[in-house]
Amino acid sequence: MTSPALVQTPAMQQYQRMKVEHPDALLFFRMGDFYEMFFDDAVVASKALDIALTSRSRDRDGNPVPMCGVPYHAASVYIGRLVRQGFRVALCEQVEDPRNAKGVVKREVVRVITPGTQLEEGALEAGQPSWILALDPGPSSVGVAWLEPTTGEFLAAEWDGEARYERLRDEIGACHPREILARPEADLPPWLSDPAQPESAIPRAPVEDRTFDLDLARRELLAHFGVATLEAFGLNEHLPRATAAAGAALRYVRETQKRELDHVTGLVTRAAQDVLTVDSVTRRNLELVESLADGQRRGTLLDVLDHTKTAMGARLLREWVLRPLVELEPIQDRLDAVEELAFRALDRGRLRAALAPVQDMERILGRVVLGTASPRDLGALGQSIRALPAAAQALADCLAPLVRLCLKDLDPPLDLADEVARTLVDEPPSLAREGGFVRDGVDQELDALRQTSRGGRATIASIEERERQRTGIGSLKVRFNRVFGFYIEVSKPNLALVPADYIRKQTVATGERFVTPELKDYEEQVLKADERILERELQILESLRAKVAGEARRVHQTAQATARLDVLASLAEAATRFDYVKPRLSRGDELVYAEGRHPMMERVLEEPFVANDLSMGEGGPRLLVLTGPNMGGKSTFLRQTALVPLMAQMGSFVPAREAKLGIVDRIFTRVGASDQILRGQSTFMVEMQEAAHILRHATRRSLVLLDEIGRGTATFDGLSIAWAVAEHLAGDPNGPKTVFATHYHELVDLAADLPTVGNLHVSAREWHDTVVFLRKIEPGGSDRSFGIHVARLAGLPAAVLVRAQEILRNLESTEFDREGRPRLAHSETEDRTGARQLALFSGRDDGVLDELRRLDPDRLTPLEALALLAELRRRLQP
Ligand code: ATP
Repeated sequence: MTSPALVQTPAMQQYQRMKVEHPDALLFFRMGDFYEMFFDDAVVASKALDIALTSRSRDRDGNPVPMCGVPYHAASVYIGRLVRQGFRVALCEQVEDPRNAKGVVKREVVRVITPGTQLEEGALEAGQPSWILALDPGPSSVGVAWLEPTTGEFLAAEWDGEARYERLRDEIGACHPREILARPEADLPPWLSDPAQPESAIPRAPVEDRTFDLDLARRELLAHFGVATLEAFGLNEHLPRATAAAGAALRYVRETQKRELDHVTGLVTRAAQDVLTVDSVTRRNLELVESLADGQRRGTLLDVLDHTKTAMGARLLREWVLRPLVELEPIQDRLDAVEELAFRALDRGRLRAALAPVQDMERILGRVVLGTASPRDLGALGQSIRALPAAAQALADCLAPLVRLCLKDLDPPLDLADEVARTLVDEPPSLAREGGFVRDGVDQELDALRQTSRGGRATIASIEERERQRTGIGSLKVRFNRVFGFYIEVSKPNLALVPADYIRKQTVATGERFVTPELKDYEEQVLKADERILERELQILESLRAKVAGEARRVHQTAQATARLDVLASLAEAATRFDYVKPRLSRGDELVYAEGRHPMMERVLEEPFVANDLSMGEGGPRLLVLTGPNMGGKSTFLRQTALVPLMAQMGSFVPAREAKLGIVDRIFTRVGASDQILRGQSTFMVEMQEAAHILRHATRRSLVLLDEIGRGTATFDGLSIAWAVAEHLAGDPNGPKTVFATHYHELVDLAADLPTVGNLHVSAREWHDTVVFLRKIEPGGSDRSFGIHVARLAGLPAAVLVRAQEILRNLESTEFDREGRPRLAHSETEDRTGARQLALFSGRDDGVLDELRRLDPDRLTPLEALALLAELRRRLQP
């Protein structure tokens, strides 16, 4: 449908003007109790919401104007649905009382709701932040800003170097932004718009180029924070793109919300290397916040560690899990705080009990500042604030510097909370327009109005009584409904008694309804008072909101300190519940733990988890080849080896008896590749891409965990690649520490060549044709995979298993028999002449055979026989 010709009514002209200003949004145009949409918006929205498309009067050309509408009290549900489908909604309200309007009611767009700026509780996940990401890419660097409009968190960074977009991709995977801002013409990496990639699904905000103008951005930030320079936030002139991105993000949210963002009280500039980088593949493999099974939280590291009491704490813990630190001091501070809280069980219990009633103060503050807070929100904020002194009290004796710092920041504005408690009733409603949320005795005018309203009702009751006596109609009732207001109802048998001054209004099945001038008078008074009561209550609410907004900085800081204490207590709780130990961290190179466990698996396993040791780096091996049976526990060991340092660097105790860990800068894992296959790449291709990524980016401080490389191709190709990759990693003096789990037992020989390589194997025993997994990691290599045993456990048909055993035996000898036939093709059923035994002694083993033929057993002592047997066997070893 093309742009509509001008429609004459003033309201429609007003609509057209607003629409021109918000071409990218569906315009919700408030008309009385409805939000109406017209023209194309109506067509699109009616389809998206599955609501009726009607038409209004005709436009100038005589065409009907398509229209649809939603009731205003249910609008948030419809808006939520539209935004989830990627639309933006401009909310246009009547900003004057229609009764006082001269001509058309004044209307304004009060807010534009976009995927990143939804503030309603229903649209948000309590435990997850809702980020807007602004990107300013340049030829050699990219500026990034994160703004969380619901809580006021604000971060910026500028990354350069070749890997900047890989880092960006990892970051997007970790923070799941709800909306991305970038110049329309920005030179962004192709994966952001490639429909085959998940990142392309993130909605893009339609912003103008100038939003990213550096000068404008700087001015925006300076004005917002009321400062003369941005240095204090770490944003200097060397970070122009970070500045531009931050300014753009702030401006975007301010302009869509049409409010000053008082809850954005600071900006943190992230250093280039401020966190332990965990790429998307690794994050998924390690199941940090989403499980491999179903993408849910159950069974993840976050799930195991989360004993937080508040939504703010839960969100912060998630951030800590996704962004472990790399600087020793702040990690140590967290660990010391966790240690003290773990030790002080009573204090911790008191803290956690005090935090239990604390609501999501950050998000409530966000709604207060952005003007959407309900009476219930304010009540909950007041209650939360009042709960905090007890939390602080619980930790009064703590000495850990980080706890003390949090206590210093914990500065609840109790006077404000008291005022809220004095003003609002105990359980205020979630919808302001319901009224009845201001206590009696708070406001004289309100009290007087209520008196009138209640007095009016009492008067009605007395009229009823008087009229009953006057008319002698005992069943006479004075009633109220919205259409007629107050009326007198007289039942049919009594109609004859109705006095002459009653004015008949309506006949109903049971009788007649009447009014009197006196009743009408009272009615007017009462209704006026009720209307005015609501107005007055809303004014009081607004002034309370303004007072809270005035304390935004203090509330925000207090909320953040609360969240941090909640997280520290949660980590202490996990540490004591699950018997974790405080890791010893250093800037060194060691990665040593004793009796380490997998934090999630040990929670779900029915049998006891077998703890294992690891020691590498610092003069020990830098690459460990891990062999052992299928199902033996290799992947589990790899994952726990990644999780232990990761947990330590987020500030958590670790599942081990002891751990000494040099800080790592990145963790790479290569385990499975299932989800990329869906994106149309072969398993082997993905495997190789991941290996290439690791080889290019791993540093000496990185930790690499490889679960088999080269599996998806021909055995010799795979083995060659695996060998070369391992050799490369171990041979490079600046290479990472690596644990390489493999079924290519040939790799065990690497240790003989390279002093930095060691061997580990998972122990298993064969018992009565089956395999017993011992799960114990031991030094040295193993030469068996027990693959066929595991296949039996998995239920492969017996005939297939027998044949597999046979082929295995053929393979374990040499490839060809004496006749030059591939031994793989051998079958005992077609060749029972002893070829299998012969095969054992073919090729390079012929010398052994000759020796056997020559020897005379009668002339050997038992000891000599034994020694010879051992020697022959040694020579037969591959
Ligand atoms: P494959 O080589 O076939 O991939 P794998 O050696 O990597 O196998 P895992 O997947 O680590 O084996 O472990 C298989 C199962 O063994 C786990 O699901 C778990 O039930 C059990 N397991 C692993 N490690 C341990 C342990 N340390 N203690 C107890 N049980 C364990």
